[in-house]
Amino acid sequence: MDAACPCGSGGNYGDCCQRYHTHQATASTAEQLMRSRYCAFVVGDNRYLRDSWHPDFRPQDPLISDDTPWLGLRILAAPAPQADAATVEFVAFYRQQGRVAQLHERSRFIRMDGRWYYTEGDQLPAIKLARNDRCCCGSGRKQKHCHAEC
Ligand SMILES: [Zn+2]
Ligand SMILES: [Zn+2]
Repeated sequence: MDAACPCGSGGNYGDCCQRYHTHQATASTAEQLMRSRYCAFVVGDNRYLRDSWHPDFRPQDPLISDDTPWLGLRILAAPAPQADAATVEFVAFYRQQGRVAQLHERSRFIRMDGRWYYTEGDQLPAIKLARNDRCCCGSGRKQKHCHAEC
């Protein structure tokens, strides 16, 4: 697939997260896994979300229950892992009742047999974008020229 990857890496979906979703490649960092999991939410790949979730933390319920219109992902911090544990802080923007909402989370990951798995995350307060940041809506324009509500 030639479309830009929803994870915002700048690459095509086929060269980026699709390789993880189809298990042709394994995410080598927690950040890569985080991006591919966000991307799985966007494309509706429930199986991948389950596979990349640590078995001790994985919920029983279907993971994608509605079709949330995701707008974009921004990685805020991905510090070097401590042994086999890592955290990734991110904001994911989505549309809710016509407004832009966000999920700001610090996710925790564990490496097991050389593979990274998501465990759980801490929800953090919403962030405020600076006027010169790229807009939350994914338009690529500066926020001050686009959605003031971000
Ligand atoms: Zn991607
Ligand atoms: Zn916008």
